[in-house]
Amino acid sequence: MSPSKDLLGKHVVITGGGSGVGAALARVFAARGAHLSLLGRRLDPLEEIAAETGATPLICDVTDAKVVQDALNQARVQNGPVAVAIANAGAAPSKPFAKMDLADFEAALSVNLSGVFNLWQAVLPDMKTAGWGRMIAVASTAGLKGYPYVSGYCAAKHGVLGLTRALAQELACTGITVNALCPGFIDTPLLERSIRTIVSTTGMSEEQAAKSLRAGNPQGRFIQPEEVAEAALYLAGSAAASINGSALPITGGEI
Ligand code: NAP
Repeated sequence: MSPSKDLLGKHVVITGGGSGVGAALARVFAARGAHLSLLGRRLDPLEEIAAETGATPLICDVTDAKVVQDALNQARVQNGPVAVAIANAGAAPSKPFAKMDLADFEAALSVNLSGVFNLWQAVLPDMKTAGWGRMIAVASTAGLKGYPYVSGYCAAKHGVLGLTRALAQELACTGITVNALCPGFIDTPLLERSIRTIVSTTGMSEEQAAKSLRAGNPQGRFIQPEEVAEAALYLAGSAAASINGSALPITGGEI
């Protein structure tokens, strides 16, 4: 089946669908005729992308399993059983390890790791019944290597890869695949916040801070959200049926 027909009418759920990578995901999947549900905590950005893509916007904090289950129930009423679940919501709070407390650490794990667990748990019955499904996590290079001042985020993203690999084994004979994308720095609001943190903690200018982050990518640039979205599109298609348990670097060669 050609990728353009693969996703026609399929229900695709995207967490963090109102901005950055999530918005790019919404646009590329909508262009393939998917029926979208976009989840996030703020309604305004979700509604903006929903207006553009015909998606169903749903307020949902991914850290709360019951809230995710309830949002998915509403999403099913609008768009049917879930075929593709993209765990994209995330946040990268930054602090030196010595200044963190357990609450900081758990907050990073909660959104970046438990949020993935909550989404995939909620959609598994639909995919098992259909005998087909795609679980995709937007992880990070922070799941493959360490970065300073984001130890909770790195621990969480490494955990996402563990979850992805384990679940890929467990579900291998069900028609469901489970994969993670590992982008380097992407041009999104999250990156803008990281740059502002570097500026305020180091006294660098914005341009110097951005340059220091771009330098980690051998191509000397930030990745565009659309590049991540196109990779997800591939993983969601039938052509990727044998790609399972992978952690795909999107890094310009950083990893
Ligand atoms: P972004 O624009 O800040 O998007 C993050 C999204 O997650 C927002 O729409 C936010 O919406 C949502 N979100 C945050 N906490 C949430 C929660 N508790 N429940 C539900 N939704 C929540 O940043 P982005 O760069 O596109 O991030 C998308 C993913 O890419 C993240 O997983 C991030 O770790 C990953 N990533 C980013 C980079 C980068 O350099 N930008 C690099 C590698 C990986 P609300 O605030 O409305 O909830």
